[in-house]
Amino acid sequence: MRTSSAVTVTLVRGDITRQSVDAVVNAANSSLLGGGGVDGAIHRRGGPEILAACRELRASKYGKGLRTGQAVATTAGKLDARWVVHTVGPVWSSAEDRSALLESCYREALRVAVELGARTIAFPAISTGIYGWPMDDGARIAVRTVLAEAAAPVEEVRFVLFDAHAYVEFEEALAAQA
Ligand code: ADP
Repeated sequence: MRTSSAVTVTLVRGDITRQSVDAVVNAANSSLLGGGGVDGAIHRRGGPEILAACRELRASKYGKGLRTGQAVATTAGKLDARWVVHTVGPVWSSAEDRSALLESCYREALRVAVELGARTIAFPAISTGIYGWPMDDGARIAVRTVLAEAAAPVEEVRFVLFDAHAYVEFEEALAAQA
């Protein structure tokens, strides 16, 4: 655990769809219409209300989809949360530095959560699954950005890590910031 000015960062190993928080962040894709990994799990457990809300966003503001690094909120459906904040991580590239886009995901998701009045927010390790981002670098970017950007009323940022490897990398990233 690490406390910066007003925010506590916690690490848990587990499933992001099982968290009781105000806002759950989804590692979405730009279509907003579901996918694998975290996205699939959120839609499965959260039920059709989330997809319906995403379709409405596609029909209104996001006809071309959500751009990489941006974030938008919907209902959380049946999840034990008030909102899902969808953000689109960058696909890893060894040829091009896309870390500003990954930072933007954490920053924009936090901005949306602050606007909504969320006090607790759970993040997955964005881009480190299907999108191929190396876990050590993804963890460093996540921890650094959240410590710099989290603001009231957010009190707790929880990283929910699916496996032991992710947990260890986030632990190290957090320790390095201490
Ligand atoms: P991306 O497409 O942004 O890479 P993924 O959903 O494929 O997103 O993976 C992001 C990270 O979330 C990976 O480290 C993956 O192991 C992890 N993950 C997958 N399912 C869950 C889940 N239900 N809860 C928490 N983390 C998960």
